Amino acid sequence: MGSRTIIKAAEWTLSAETAEGAPSAIFSVACIACGAESEAADNDRLPVEVWALKHTGLNPTHRQYQPKVLSFWRVDPAPGNPYLELQARGGVQR
Ligand SMILES: [Zn+2]
Repeated sequence: MGSRTIIKAAEWTLSAETAEGAPSAIFSVACIACGAESEAADNDRLPVEVWALKHTGLNPTHRQYQPKVLSFWRVDPAPGNPYLELQARGGVQR
C-alpha cells in the first residue's frame, strides 16, 4: 500500500499592492564612490534625483549612482479559488 500526495493547485493572481497607505514605489539612491545614500522618497523620484545632482555638485568626482526602487506586490485568490468566497464572507483577512 503506497501513499500518494495530492497537491491541489489553487488559482491566485499577483498584482501591485494598492492598499491604502501603501506607496506604489519607494525611491532612493546610493553614491557608488562613497556609499552615501539619499533619504527614501515615497512615490516620487524627483527628490532622489535632486539629491544625486547636489551630491555631485558638492563632490565633483562622485558621478555614479545606484538607484533603488522598492515596490510592493500582493497575491489574491482568483475566480474559482475557494479563498475568494471565504474572503467575501469575511472569513479571511486580506
Ligand atoms: Zn559620494
